Amino acid sequence: MNVQAGRPRADRQGRLVRVLAADGHLRIVSAVTTPVVEEARRRHGLWPTATAAVGRLMTAAVLMASILKDDQRIMLQVVGDGPLRHVVAEATASLQVRAYAAEPRVHLPLNDHGKLDVARAVGKGSLHVIRDLGLKEPYRGAVPLVSGEIAEDVAHYLAVSEQSPSSVALGVLVGPDGRVQAAGGFWLMPMPGAPDELIGEMEQRLGRMAPVSRRIDEMGADADPVALVAPLLEGLDYRVLQAAPVEFHCPCTRRRFEAGLVALGAQELRSIASEQDPVELRCRFCNRRYLFPARRLLELARRAERPSLRLVDGSEPS
Ligand code: ZN
Repeated sequence: MNVQAGRPRADRQGRLVRVLAADGHLRIVSAVTTPVVEEARRRHGLWPTATAAVGRLMTAAVLMASILKDDQRIMLQVVGDGPLRHVVAEATASLQVRAYAAEPRVHLPLNDHGKLDVARAVGKGSLHVIRDLGLKEPYRGAVPLVSGEIAEDVAHYLAVSEQSPSSVALGVLVGPDGRVQAAGGFWLMPMPGAPDELIGEMEQRLGRMAPVSRRIDEMGADADPVALVAPLLEGLDYRVLQAAPVEFHCPCTRRRFEAGLVALGAQELRSIASEQDPVELRCRFCNRRYLFPARRLLELARRAERPSLRLVDGSEPS
C-alpha cells in the first residue's frame, strides 16, 4: 500500500494475528507493537508515562482496525483532565497506525503496583471512538472512562456501545533508558452462542496470565503474537485467519498542508506571511516539520483568491 521512499524497515514493524478458536466460539486478535510504539516515542519525544498511554492506545487502535475492511480506519481519543490532556491514535485496515499525546512530556511516579501510572496521567474523562467506514458520515461513539488505564476503558466501550463483551489487555514496558522495551496486547471476544463453560475457562486463564508487556519482554526480539496468547489457546483448536505487519505511518504531505493553508483564505495568509518567514507547521500525528517561506504563502494567497486556477496550475496537480 505505502510504496513511496521512506517505507519503514521490517525491524520497525510490529506483528498482528487474528485467530478463530474453539470451533469458532472465540475470536482473538493479538499484536506485538514494540517497534511502532518506540517509533512514536522517538518522533514525539514522549516521556515514560506518556509513552505507556500512547502505546496502549495505539495498540488498541490496531487491534480494532484489524476487523475493518479496505480503506476503513478507526480513531481512538482519550480525553481527560490529567496532565496528558488528550491522547489520539488512528489505525487503518492495512494496520498503519499513528498517534500523539497533547502533552508528550508527562512522567509520574509509579503506581501502587509498580507500574507506569497511566490512569493518573489521563485523569477523569471519556473515550471517543470514530470509525470512518467510507460512508458519508463517520460513526462516532463515546463512553466515560472507567479506569483511565485504557484497556479496561476500551473493553467497556466494546461492551456498552457495540454490545460486544470483550477482554482487552494492553501493555507497554519502558526500559531504564526511556526506550520502549516491549509493547502489545490482545482482544478476546466470545462469539454469540459461545458456551458458558468456555467463557468461564477463559476468565480463569486471563486471571492467571502474566501482564502482556512482561510476556512480550520475555519473548525478546522475536516476540510472536500467537505465542502471546498461547495460554488462552492451550488445548483448543484454532486457526490463524490473518498474520500481518503493523507499521507507524502518517500520510501527511507538504501538499496537504498547503491545501490547509489555502483554506485559511488570502487575507489571513498575507497577514501570516508579513509576520513570519518562514512559517513552521508541524504534523500533530508524526511531528514532521514543514517550512513554508513567506513567498510561498503569498503564492498560496493568490491561489486562494482564484481557486479555478488550480485546475491549470501544472505544478500542483490536485
Ligand atoms: Zn504526519
